[in-house]
Amino acid sequence: MIYQRPRLPLLGFAAYSGTGKTTLLEALIPKLTDAGLRLGVLKHAHHNFDVDVPGKDSYRLRKAGASQMLIASRNRHVLMTETPDAEAEFNYLLSRFDSDNLDVILVEGCKNIEFPKIELHRKELDKPWLYTHDSNIIAIAADEAVDSTLPQLDINDLDSIARFVIDYITNKQQPKTSLPSGCDTLSPAFLSVDQGRNNILHSVTALNQSQQVELEHAYNRVLYTDIKSPVNVPAYRNSAMDGYAIRGDDLERAQYSVVAEVMAGYHHCEPLKPGQAVKIMTGAAVPEEADTVIMREQAVESDGFVTFGESKIKPGQNVRQAGEDLSLGQEVFTAGKRLYSPETGMLASLGLNSVAVYRQLKVAIFSTGDEVQSPGTPASASRIFDSNRYTLMGLLTQLGCEIIDFGIIEDNQQKMLQVLDQAAEQADVVLTSGGVSVGDADYIKAALESLGSIEFWRINMRPGRPLAFGKIKNKPIFGLPGNPVAVMVSFINFVEPALRKMQGETEWQPLKINAIAGEDLRSRQGRTEFTRGIYSIEPTGQLVVRSTGKQGSGILRSMSEANCLIEISPAIDTVKSGEHVTIIPLQGRI
Ligand code: AMP
Ligand code: MG
Repeated sequence: MIYQRPRLPLLGFAAYSGTGKTTLLEALIPKLTDAGLRLGVLKHAHHNFDVDVPGKDSYRLRKAGASQMLIASRNRHVLMTETPDAEAEFNYLLSRFDSDNLDVILVEGCKNIEFPKIELHRKELDKPWLYTHDSNIIAIAADEAVDSTLPQLDINDLDSIARFVIDYITNKQQPKTSLPSGCDTLSPAFLSVDQGRNNILHSVTALNQSQQVELEHAYNRVLYTDIKSPVNVPAYRNSAMDGYAIRGDDLERAQYSVVAEVMAGYHHCEPLKPGQAVKIMTGAAVPEEADTVIMREQAVESDGFVTFGESKIKPGQNVRQAGEDLSLGQEVFTAGKRLYSPETGMLASLGLNSVAVYRQLKVAIFSTGDEVQSPGTPASASRIFDSNRYTLMGLLTQLGCEIIDFGIIEDNQQKMLQVLDQAAEQADVVLTSGGVSVGDADYIKAALESLGSIEFWRINMRPGRPLAFGKIKNKPIFGLPGNPVAVMVSFINFVEPALRKMQGETEWQPLKINAIAGEDLRSRQGRTEFTRGIYSIEPTGQLVVRSTGKQGSGILRSMSEANCLIEISPAIDTVKSGEHVTIIPLQGRI
């Protein structure tokens, strides 16, 4: 779920703790309300803060299990929402405000989330400046001057800070050119993981071409049509046990005469008469008029007669009805289902030996960069071997794609244009890696821009911040980051969902599981962290996850050692040992 930020000015106060944010805001707020502004304030607090008072009714009801507790009176109301699994997202929190009745939302904390902020700084604290690496800082309030083009205010002159804030809000309130939805005010190309993925998913569609494949080649393909059962499964009434079949209206006898023996694959043609039994094997057809099977262990047979002693017999027991699993004409699978082992087995059980599937998706891949050389060529001191193309080949094979490998393309615009054009011509999707981050040689960017509509995004995630996505010749193209781990994490988050959609697969969601952090896991507020993790089951039965250790985005070994990604949401700074965390198991996916 993506929450839109309210169409309201949003202004934060960013500072290291100890700077006196709350004290400053407390003094500033009356000056703003005196100017007629209606203020909302969002404050980020520590994990276990509570506004409630133990013993009060609201406290008791909440502790009794209310996950949302709204307490209301003539003068105010408060909604307390428990979020035991994951902290609420910043945009979600903003959406809780009644923005029709506000002129601005002031934010205290949330230092690492993207929105406009005033940096508060006091010399005596000796903390580093934030504005130097945070483009969201729009002004500085400090007690020393700095060499910056940003507006500078005296942190001790509240009137001038108030004036600045009032001006800022008033300017923001002018009818503004409307920004594309879901974009941040200051950095339109800064997207959350969900926003990036949704943008991509919106702009790709399933191939509309199918092919008939033999069942032995149907594994990992996606059904193009619904499958209705052409037969009953099971096709005939059969025994679920090795034993004796009798009539359900004939249970009271001391003994039955055994008139035949029916092995699996055979059947007894005569309708069963009262007083008769047939010895029957599991899976064998139950004779006409017989409908009840007594298992062999409960029967004694001698001289052509069988007795069942004291065993309780229910009419109809141990008989599988024709069509019990699937009846003729019943829908078995809907189009868009990926066929794995159970599905191919089920199709076979219906007697089908071929099936209509989406045609295979063709994916062109290439690596970029003069520093990248092919494995197998003599190692050079200033170059690295191309690993990305090989990880991508594995990931694409796992998804059943056909790969068109264009190798390594040097940083040369002409060559790049030519390959992009050819790749988009031949493939359904183009994947490249490298060359999309800030500061890269611009060959790929310039080439992409000149050929089609490409957007260069910065995703609030780590690893994998830069991502280019667009279309050339109406074919989706992904410019993945260069770093090997970033390539894989970006693939999992953005490329895989898109490829699955293009392959025709519906209702696919990555498996996500809740685990307990076995150690502190570092992250940063404002971005999604994908830490490579190892989960295991503790002797207590608890699923616990730990990081693989060093997390550099060039360390491919961290992916190899991992059995999951730990997804730490943007709202969370550090996951403390013992807290809940989401994991994405990687088994069978990479
Ligand atoms: P870039 O995004 O092109 O700046 O690349 C980021 C980092 O990833 C650099 O250290 C590159 O050398 C590295 N890199 C780029 N392409 C590849 C590749 N195909 N295989 C391995 N590393 C790569
Ligand atoms: Mg590069």
